[in-house]
Amino acid sequence: MPNQVYIIGAGAAGCFCAIALKRMNAHMEVTVVERGTRPLRKLAITGGGRCNLTNSFSEVRSLKQVYPRGEKLMKRLLKEFSQHDTMAWFENEGIPLTTQPDQCVFPRSQDAMQIVDTLQILMRRAGVKVVCNCDAFAKGSMQQITGRNSDEAFVTAWLKEQAEHLTTGQVEDRPSTQQTALVIATGTPHSDTLRLFFAPYGIKVTPTLPSLFTFCLGDEALHALMGTVVEHVVVRLTGTKWQAEGALLITHWGFSGPAILRLSSYAAVHLASSDYQAELAVNWLGGAREDEAADLLQHLAAAYPQRLLANQHPPQLMQRHWVYLLQKAGLSPQKRWQELGPKQTARLASLICCDLYKVTGRGENKEEFVTCGGIALDNLNPSTLECRHLPHLYFAGEVCDVDAVTGGFNLQAAWTMGYVVARSIAQLPAS
Ligand SMILES: Cc1cc2nc3c(=O)[nH]c(=O)nc-3n(C[C@H](O)[C@H](O)[C@H](O)COP(=O)(O)OP(=O)(O)OC[C@H]3O[C@@H](n4cnc5c(N)ncnc54)[C@H](O)[C@@H]3O)c2cc1C
Repeated sequence: MPNQVYIIGAGAAGCFCAIALKRMNAHMEVTVVERGTRPLRKLAITGGGRCNLTNSFSEVRSLKQVYPRGEKLMKRLLKEFSQHDTMAWFENEGIPLTTQPDQCVFPRSQDAMQIVDTLQILMRRAGVKVVCNCDAFAKGSMQQITGRNSDEAFVTAWLKEQAEHLTTGQVEDRPSTQQTALVIATGTPHSDTLRLFFAPYGIKVTPTLPSLFTFCLGDEALHALMGTVVEHVVVRLTGTKWQAEGALLITHWGFSGPAILRLSSYAAVHLASSDYQAELAVNWLGGAREDEAADLLQHLAAAYPQRLLANQHPPQLMQRHWVYLLQKAGLSPQKRWQELGPKQTARLASLICCDLYKVTGRGENKEEFVTCGGIALDNLNPSTLECRHLPHLYFAGEVCDVDAVTGGFNLQAAWTMGYVVARSIAQLPAS
C-alpha cells in the first residue's frame, strides 16, 4: 500500500476522498493540494448557497436520464457508495438533511457552509495536510508540495517518475512513486491542459464542453413575458432525438428552468457542434397531443362562449403568456370564444403543442454549472478508478467524463468517486 497520497484539488471529490482515506488508514500521509486560497470554494456556492448535496433517486427511472455521460460507471460505483450512504454519512457527522418534494436533498439548515465547515473540520481532525495557493500543474509546484528541489510541475514530475519506475523497476530519487499515489480531482480544467499532461502517457481526453446552460432566443416579443413560469412543458430540438420535460422559465434573454437545463445537458455535444444554433419546439401542455389540445380549446369555447379569448385561458398557462400565444397564432385576443372556428382551433392547438423558436446561443450568466467531457472513462478501471496505463494514478469527480443534470446528482458523483478511490488505495497491497 502506498504510504503517501497526493490529492490534487480540494473540491468535493478531493476532500471527501482525503477524509475517507484517513479513516480507512490513519497512518497514511494524505496531502490535498489546492490552487485557490481555500478548499471547497465551489461547494460553498452550490444549490444557490444551500448545497443540493444529493437526490433520493426515487423518481429516477433510468440512470441515463440523470447521467447523460457516465451512466454505466455510476451504476457500478453507486453500488459501493450510494445516495443512502451519502445521506447517512452526513447525518452521522451531525448534519440533519431534508428531502424536498422534488427529491433534491439539502442540509436542513439550508446552508452550504455547514457542509463546507464540517468537511474542513474533519480533514483537520483526521490529520490531512492541505496546501493552498498551489497549482500542481504549474512549474515549481514540486518544490512547494514536497520540498524537493525541482523546477518541474508536481504532476509532471510524478508522472515521469511513475513511468520511469514502470520501465526500470525503480527510481533513484526518493520518495519513490511506488510508495505514493496520485489522485487527480481538479474539477474541470480545459481538455487541452489535461491532454498536455496526460496524453504522453496514453491517457485519452474527451473535449470539455459546457453543460447545463440556458438558451438565448431571437424572439424580442418574449421579453415582455420575463419571469413567467410554466410548470410542465416538453422541449425538443427539432430534427434530433433530444428532448426533455419539466418547468420552463422565460427570462429576458430566452428560456431557462429545469426543462431547458436538462435539454442542454442531454444535447451538450450536439449544441456545441452547431455553435448553439438550433430550432426548439415547445409543447406548452406538458406533451399533450394536438387532438387533446383541440379538445381542451373546444371545452373552453363551450363553457365560456361569450368571453373574450384573452380573458379565459387554459389553466396551465398564465394570461399574458396566453395572449402572446394567441397573437403568435394570428388570433385577436378580443375575439369571443364562440367565434373560434375549427380551422383556428386546429391552428391554435398546433401552436400550443409545437411552438417553434430559434436558439441563437447559450446563456453566459454563470448558469453554466458543469462541464461534460474530461478524462475518458475507458482509461480507468471501473471498479477502482485507477488509470489502466499508470498504476497508482487515480481520477475522481468532474475531471472524469461523467456529468449529470441538476438535482444533486453531480455532487453525488463527486462523493461516490472520492469514496471509491479512497477504498481502492486503502486496499492496495503493501509495497
Ligand atoms: C454555481 C454552481 C452551483 C452548483 N450547484 C450544485 C448543486 O447544488 N448540486 C450538485 O450536485 N452539483 C452542483 N454543482 C456542480 C458541482 O459543484 C460539481 O459537480 C462538483 O463541485 C464537482 O466536484 P469536484 O471535486 O470534481 O470539482 P470541484 O468542486 O470543481 O473542485 C476541484 C478543485 O480543484 C482545484 N484545482 C483545479 N486545478 C488545480 C490545480 N492545477 N492544482 C491544484 N488545484 C486545482 C480547484 O480550484 C477546485 O477547488 C454546481 C456547480 C456550480 C458552478
